[in-house]
Amino acid sequence: MLVLKFGGTSVGNTQAFAQVAEIIARARAQDAHVVVVTSAMSGVTNTLVHAARAAADGYEQPYREARSDLLLKHQLVAGQLIEDGVERAAYGRLIDERLRSFERLCHSIYVLGELTARGLDVVSGLGERMAAPLLAAVLRAHGIAAEWVDAAEIVVTDANFGGATPLIEPTCARANARLRPLLDQGKTPVVTGFVAATSEGIATTLGRGGSDYSAAILGACLQADEVQIWTDVNGILTADPRIVPGAKTTPELTYIEAAELAYFGAKVLHPKTILPAIEALIPIRVANTFQPDGPSTLVLPETARDGAVKAITAIKHLTLINVEGRGMIGVPGIAARTFKAVAAVGANVLMISQSSSEQSICFAVPEGDAPAVIQALTAELAQELTRHFIDQIRAIHDVVIVAVVGAGMRGTPGIAGRVFSALGEARINVIAVAQGSSEVNISLVVDENDAEAAVRFVHAAFFAEA
Ligand code: ASP
Ligand code: MG
Repeated sequence: MLVLKFGGTSVGNTQAFAQVAEIIARARAQDAHVVVVTSAMSGVTNTLVHAARAAADGYEQPYREARSDLLLKHQLVAGQLIEDGVERAAYGRLIDERLRSFERLCHSIYVLGELTARGLDVVSGLGERMAAPLLAAVLRAHGIAAEWVDAAEIVVTDANFGGATPLIEPTCARANARLRPLLDQGKTPVVTGFVAATSEGIATTLGRGGSDYSAAILGACLQADEVQIWTDVNGILTADPRIVPGAKTTPELTYIEAAELAYFGAKVLHPKTILPAIEALIPIRVANTFQPDGPSTLVLPETARDGAVKAITAIKHLTLINVEGRGMIGVPGIAARTFKAVAAVGANVLMISQSSSEQSICFAVPEGDAPAVIQALTAELAQELTRHFIDQIRAIHDVVIVAVVGAGMRGTPGIAGRVFSALGEARINVIAVAQGSSEVNISLVVDENDAEAAVRFVHAAFFAEA
């Protein structure tokens, strides 16, 4: 069994829909059991959310306009790809009904002057509920037996509107009960991504970008052989191609490597959304809808050691905070109090480094959090500062973390050496360094102005760029 998920750009227009039909036909030739999960057409969720917010602010125009824009956008695809008149009329009625309820909802929001998270989930989920029936009809027009399924019938969540958490047991029971019979009849279910419902049947969503999550949940429940994420890039690259034009697709990554990359700002799979697939040890493939025979990335529990370093990535807009002082030596509790203060202001710490001389602790936080962090630390460590146990709390602004990621670094000597030689030759100053004992990544802090060069030079040290 294969679960294929298509993102917004993969169902962005007529050509994309046709391309998707092709990909699904090929998947079915490979495996009789194919489950499809689709996002809304690109831009649709944003339009819906924007219209609902504007309605709450007293504007009717955006939702009126959205209604006609969305009708046109979907009908254009239907008109070009669904030849059968009966099918086309049926879809016409469906989209009309959806958009009518969209307008009614927005009108109520406008009258009340208030938009609740619960209300927003109803509105924002309409995009997938327009795309899935359309894709199913397009597939039938291509001779593929397909039926659309509303994920509200399957994915059961808590009532945390705007980003609900799925309840795995009831979800899996429903996934099997609802989808297996369709598969047994030779049909390909086309399931709405992103949307779900509470056990009482109240509409929820899994949070923006949640269709990957839907696919991972269904993949885990159905024990799929592979979950395929079809998007508009050739899988996961060795670096951001805007910085390194010669970056190439990484053929294989481990779950941990993929998570590290996502954490350090690479726009790939979000660790939370693929967690169900990871827990079920299901391989995840990231492939390009517009280049289906091009390179793709397979994310697996473990990979062959085909290279110590898999990718280089950079996370920007950070501030490095240094807590420095000779009086810290051998004094227990400074680190604990430092990070307690940081946690109290809700700042996210991306990297920590302490030298073994214990004269300083430094850590990186998003630049927007830095003022609050410094204030909290100054208050928490006031006594130590007065007594000069701590000399200063110093912020280094405009820094970037360059992360070199690869599980094969573990036990491979010389990787750090190559990283630092590359930076040395490029005369790039490294402000701080950290490597976790898991040895999956080496993180370097450099000045924002050096970041792109650092990525380029380190990339060149490990990858041939054609
Ligand atoms: N359509 C939703 C969004 O734009 C979910 C998704 O695309 O994954 O956030
Ligand atoms: Mg999307």
